[in-house]
Amino acid sequence: MHIKFYSLFTLLFFYSCSEYSPASERPKNVILLISDGTGLSQISSAYFYKESEVNYSRFQHIGLITTSSSIEDITDSAASATAFSCGQKTYNGAIGVLEDSKQLENIVEIASLKGVKTGLVATSSITHATPACFYAHVSDRDYEDEIALQLTKSEIDYFAGGGEKFFNQRADGLNLIDSLQSNGFTTNTSALTSFDKIKSNTKQAFLLGAEDMPKMSEGRGDFLSEATLLGVQFLHQNNTPFFLMSEGSQIDWAGHDNDAPYLISELIDFDELIGAVLDFAAQDGETLVVVTSDHETGGFTLSGAPYRTSEGKIYDSYNKLDPRFSTGGHSATLIPVFAYGPGAAQFSGVYDNTDIFHKIIELTEWGMD
Ligand SMILES: [Zn+2]
Repeated sequence: MHIKFYSLFTLLFFYSCSEYSPASERPKNVILLISDGTGLSQISSAYFYKESEVNYSRFQHIGLITTSSSIEDITDSAASATAFSCGQKTYNGAIGVLEDSKQLENIVEIASLKGVKTGLVATSSITHATPACFYAHVSDRDYEDEIALQLTKSEIDYFAGGGEKFFNQRADGLNLIDSLQSNGFTTNTSALTSFDKIKSNTKQAFLLGAEDMPKMSEGRGDFLSEATLLGVQFLHQNNTPFFLMSEGSQIDWAGHDNDAPYLISELIDFDELIGAVLDFAAQDGETLVVVTSDHETGGFTLSGAPYRTSEGKIYDSYNKLDPRFSTGGHSATLIPVFAYGPGAAQFSGVYDNTDIFHKIIELTEWGMD
């Protein structure tokens, strides 16, 4: 009996070494990239409109998520980001709270207890629904003054985005730039800097627009990639574990506007972000990268351009694309998930948006006592 047990143990040990190695499947760091309002057609547009390599092609592990909120078939960014950040379904508009206004513990609060440094980047205001769900708890996403106040007191160590007006042009007259500083942040409201200029700061805030960051077409440049890589460098100093969420916020806004050139330029910018982050993760070897979206926006389709035959009939060309939209709102389509690095295989399959949170927490063991 004793020998048998030993043999079984040996067998399991060798099996675990050769076929499956749980220890190396545990990421030390997690980067979550969210492209707001991005379904498969938005991603597909990179394959027709991006002139250089499409970075989505670099993933081996791909899944799909369902995204409905607790009440509505079609989610908004607040309910969906709460699913990602807290692992629970809630109603549209909710930031880190349930219907009964119970506050949900988010991944930033959980991970920071383990000494994990945390950061957020967005091309919207940093108080907008998606980033807000990673530090705030309010019943309505529109309470951006309150969301900004909660950011000043949060565990977040680094952030970059727009939204300065919610900190220093407030109805209550408070100056939250001062509050950020008294809570350990070094603040910068003019431009991203080099890593050398921020590396010895305790916490770092970049508030680079009164509200939204500019569109790509209006000169945002490589802000999204640069702010994200700067955050990685800042948070990961001395090999400290980190969690960073970076959002391409405006793909959603282009979908609401039914503006295909706007959408495609924002999607291509997000694909550049994926490339920059995968380059880091490939070199680092301990970072899990998860790329997904909260929902699709616009009912976007890569349809063919209509043309009229000599008999007067109208067909769609199969030679020339004419991207179109079916709605000015969100849609309920399943949303792709792409994963890279330790634990990436866990993100294959079809599951719910709340499982993004649970998979990350299980893999990292950040929730363990
Ligand atoms: Zn939207």
